[in-house]
Amino acid sequence: MPVSIQIERAAPTERLYAVAEIAASWNLSTDKVRELFEAEPGVLVIADRNPRRKRRYRTLRIPQTVVDRVYTRLSIYRRHLKRCKQRHDGRSYRRCLCPVWVDGLLNGVEIRRSLKTRDWQSAHELVRQWEADGKREERPAPIAVKDACDKFISDAEARGLREPTVYKYRLLFRQLQEFAGVYGLPLMVNFDVDWVRRFRASWPNKNIAARKKLEALRAFFRFVHESGWISTNPASRLKPPKITGTSHCASY
Ligand SMILES: [Zn+2]
Repeated sequence: MPVSIQIERAAPTERLYAVAEIAASWNLSTDKVRELFEAEPGVLVIADRNPRRKRRYRTLRIPQTVVDRVYTRLSIYRRHLKRCKQRHDGRSYRRCLCPVWVDGLLNGVEIRRSLKTRDWQSAHELVRQWEADGKREERPAPIAVKDACDKFISDAEARGLREPTVYKYRLLFRQLQEFAGVYGLPLMVNFDVDWVRRFRASWPNKNIAARKKLEALRAFFRFVHESGWISTNPASRLKPPKITGTSHCASY
């Protein structure tokens, strides 16, 4: 019997995903991803008509909207106890008082566990709440180097820092953005401790000037870190420069 080809058209501008791409990004097996999406409305299924091929071969192309829909989708069911008379009806039977479980995906992570309740309504509400929380906790887009610099300047002005101080930050940020442009580091998360060291090594400044500049850089990274835009502060591990050949050293 020939396998029919079922194609539902995706909106033309929509990005289509291959099974392997989703498997890699959600850290699931390709078999699991196939299982999740194969019967999903909106997925393009390209079936192979060749009868001589032993294994049925189907290529899936999954539109962005379908990926988003499946990313968080939980269902609840009663996990029947051995003594339950309805246990052979399986998941479709819910009018007994067996414990309620949940399974499915929560933000791309597989989940299957007891909800520690037998009350269907409260289980349902709990899971809706998880879905809502999961969506709320979705990570914001990573902040660009330029945006972080601009936000620091606005904050410095709001704090009433003196203009010469703000000017020094502007100068530092111009260099930081140039450096980021040259090395292809558009986002703050691109700056690990190694890149911060390399940025510092690019400065012509010496002694006190170098130390002052490092303090400014640290203040900036502290601001970015405390704002939650980077998970660790790469500048905190930079050692201050050695100060030589100047009488100012005693004051530091
Ligand atoms: Zn039951």
